[in-house]
Amino acid sequence: MTGIAPYEVYAIRYATVARRSAENFIGGDPHESGARMDYFVWLVRNAAHTFVVDTGFNEAAARKRRREFLRSPAEGLRLLGVDASAAEHVILTHLHYDHVGNFDLFPRARFHLQDQELAYATGRYMSTEFFSYAYEVDEVVAMVRNVYAGRVEFHDGDVEIAPGVSLHLIGGHTKGLQVVRVWTRVGWLVLASDASHYYANMGEGRPFPVVANVMEMVDGWRRLQHLASDPRHIVPGHDPLVMQRYRAPEPALEGIAVRLDAQPSG
Ligand SMILES: [Zn+2]
Repeated sequence: MTGIAPYEVYAIRYATVARRSAENFIGGDPHESGARMDYFVWLVRNAAHTFVVDTGFNEAAARKRRREFLRSPAEGLRLLGVDASAAEHVILTHLHYDHVGNFDLFPRARFHLQDQELAYATGRYMSTEFFSYAYEVDEVVAMVRNVYAGRVEFHDGDVEIAPGVSLHLIGGHTKGLQVVRVWTRVGWLVLASDASHYYANMGEGRPFPVVANVMEMVDGWRRLQHLASDPRHIVPGHDPLVMQRYRAPEPALEGIAVRLDAQPSG
């Protein structure tokens, strides 16, 4: 991979919630231990390019869904030197409420989205609550408005959007879920988002219960393995272990952000 400047990659934690571990696996969890779900947005950047990955929910959505809101995703980005109001490229892994929203904070952004995700979020399965539960209709409508405003960059399958940054359609969790593969100083890193909420979902072959297609989800784990240089460089979407396995880029960001283009502990 000569010639591509490696990217820095960060996870920014903006919300959290306590839950039972049985809620994280189809069929429950025999250990029945307490578990937490963290909520992240991610930042990918080098000298030439900056990508924000997902935009996260706001305080009102946190109240509605009873999540503990820690800080605005825009504030987290600001602490890493990125002005959300000037951000030009936002990758949306999918349109669930915890990955989109805050559109007002990204007035200049173009949104990278899979064709299948918008089709799914506006299609027949949304009349069944099992599939629609994690979408907010107002946000889906806002995304349709972004389409009409010419602000959505649609992708159909796998695509390289800059040297060393590519998007890969996985499906499974939602019909159009995509993951982000990034060239870094430690090799190819994959932001799996909700292709695997926790390390244990992909690591132990136990699917998460919010799912459009279980077989696609299972096949997706294998694709993640192929995309990453090392399985340790696959970063799950909601696992609190991410904040433990990686280090804050500086002491002031302890508990807020970690740098992912590094060797994880554990
Ligand atoms: Zn999610």
